[in-house]
Amino acid sequence: MGAGGNKRAREALDAAAAQSLRASLQAAREALPIWAARAQLVEEVRCCTALVLVGETGSGKTTQLPQFLLAAGLAQGGMIGVTQPRRVAATSVARRVAQEMGVALGAEVGYTIRFDDVSSGATRIKYLTDGMLLREALADPLLRRYKVIVLDEAHERTMQTDILFGLIKGVQARRKGDLRLVVMSATLDAAKFVTYFAGSKAAYLQGRQFPVQVLYTAAPEESYLDAALATVMQVHAEEAPGDVLVFLTGQDEIESLARLINARAAVASKEAGGIALQVVPIYAALPPEQQARVFEPAPDGARKVVLATNIAETSITIPGVRYVVDPGLIKARSYNARLGSDSLQVVPTSQAQARQRSGRAGREAPGKAFRLYTEAAFQALPPTTEPEIRRSPLAGMALQLLALGVTDLPAFDFMDKPPMGALMRALEQLLALGALDADGRLTQPLGRRMARLPVDPAFAKVLLAGAETCCAEEALTVVAMVSTDPVFTNPGQQRDAAAAARRRFVSPLGDHLTLLNVFQAYLLVGKAGRGRWCAEHHVSARALRKAADIRAQLAGHLTALELQAGASGAPGAPGDATDRLRRALVAGLFSHAAVALPDGTFKVLASGQAVALHPSSVLCGKRPACIVFDELLRTTRDYARQVTAIDAAWLPELAPIFFARHAQGG
Ligand code: ADP
Ligand code: MG
Repeated sequence: MGAGGNKRAREALDAAAAQSLRASLQAAREALPIWAARAQLVEEVRCCTALVLVGETGSGKTTQLPQFLLAAGLAQGGMIGVTQPRRVAATSVARRVAQEMGVALGAEVGYTIRFDDVSSGATRIKYLTDGMLLREALADPLLRRYKVIVLDEAHERTMQTDILFGLIKGVQARRKGDLRLVVMSATLDAAKFVTYFAGSKAAYLQGRQFPVQVLYTAAPEESYLDAALATVMQVHAEEAPGDVLVFLTGQDEIESLARLINARAAVASKEAGGIALQVVPIYAALPPEQQARVFEPAPDGARKVVLATNIAETSITIPGVRYVVDPGLIKARSYNARLGSDSLQVVPTSQAQARQRSGRAGREAPGKAFRLYTEAAFQALPPTTEPEIRRSPLAGMALQLLALGVTDLPAFDFMDKPPMGALMRALEQLLALGALDADGRLTQPLGRRMARLPVDPAFAKVLLAGAETCCAEEALTVVAMVSTDPVFTNPGQQRDAAAAARRRFVSPLGDHLTLLNVFQAYLLVGKAGRGRWCAEHHVSARALRKAADIRAQLAGHLTALELQAGASGAPGAPGDATDRLRRALVAGLFSHAAVALPDGTFKVLASGQAVALHPSSVLCGKRPACIVFDELLRTTRDYARQVTAIDAAWLPELAPIFFARHAQGG
């Protein structure tokens, strides 16, 4: 056989393999609980303005319903948009559905998340984050591209989903039957939704759920990571085959538990020669190829241990799980309107979340859930989680609604109203940033421009202030670097080498300028050498690639706003370059300005709250007199993270409204 024959034979084999893959995917689809209900569901979506669909996680809502609606012709002349609160869910589900339909991702099936759009003119089913759909509404207030909108994971009650509830209700009224809505969730107070969406109907999917035995600890655990490690090893040693799913709060924790389990498992397998343990992580910042690994069975009968963030609670379903290990914690936003402080905190889950997590063990067979806390602690948990809108800063939301033409925010049709104090604070902040005028109207051009930039209002202001003072290039880099995943990788064993590598980039002026140095050094390396350069310098190649991507998109937004992206080193630019960048930072971050106290901590000027420099800050151990920072992190104490040293005299100059008010108010 010649080379051509070989090629033809290979193509025939590939085609056969593709066909058998499609056949097995089709069989899997038909085995899902939602399959039998498809005709009825399509009819219900067709007939009522809104359908509230409740069904056990894994029953096929997210992957199947959009395909049914498309096949039934309900998207004629437009798209089906399916929102997800989480980026990972949007991308992984889109990939799966493209595979099931046998199309390339980005063609008939695509996704759009912030800074990453894999969709095209051919796209008919689009998965997107709830935040992205809101952004699209700015350009297209009636969402005319969509014939059906599916708001998925509605029980999570993210701020964006909550706003979409109100917004889409209004759009539906104006499009008169031309836009269909489906609200989906695993656990939902359907009655509340049916009341809110007039003319809607609830449908329930009959799921399969095997019994799950719930076990508590007898006494509170001192360290939940140690307890999780011990529990995983005990399950592995004593329990029947089946995979283990552990719920953790973030990437760092997942990485350290993975190291601990791998170290133990290496010892254990030498001793016993028993079945192997395979650890697979899943969290938002994990590269997509690695995310796909959680869906694959462990090789040679090994036991798979999935270490997951809350993503595995309802957004994705991992096959094979029979044991759940739940420390009962979650990283959540909490906002104190009085202090104006927003922090990511590790807090206990609600009872509903604990039940949902345990349920993950009973999808395929009877399972066990190990709750790493006492039964009394469970009884003391709140029954459900508060909607995000009731515990978050609202400036970004307020800016978006104003840009969408909603002028009377307190009168907006919220499913649950945000606290009035927080709403007032948001409006005050927008006023201080110059986005609102004294009458509460969006300013032109500043406020309108800020609303167009897909970052927090404070960072939008940093970008616009940078563009105004000839340091747009640097401001773009800094905002991109704080928006990407963590840049400095967790060094593991090579802590000293990593610290030494990092010292080369350190700016005495703080973390933002240090990040700027990293990015500028990275750009000087040729494309081919970047991977190696990143490894040598202990920075994340992926985070830097993503930063470059984000930066390009933000630069595109500035260009669209017809703003010159000048560099601070440009000839004729006034004053010191780093000063101008730091002043741009102050123009956005002034509400996070703090002055040094004699004991080495800092007092946040806006709230009087005391904070310490986060140990990761390059300014840690130095003693700047005045700082601004990005984020308040509350763990054992309150930390300021991502910090820049500034001149206190800049504050009243760059944020006159804010500091005049605070001077009066004391
Ligand atoms: P629901 O939205 O009701 O929770 P899904 O539509 O997300 O259900 O999932 C249906 C089934 O598809 C689940 O059994 C899940 O295991 C499977 N599935 C979903 N995404 C993937 C994927 N990326 N790879 C493999 N299987 C998947
Ligand atoms: Mg789903």
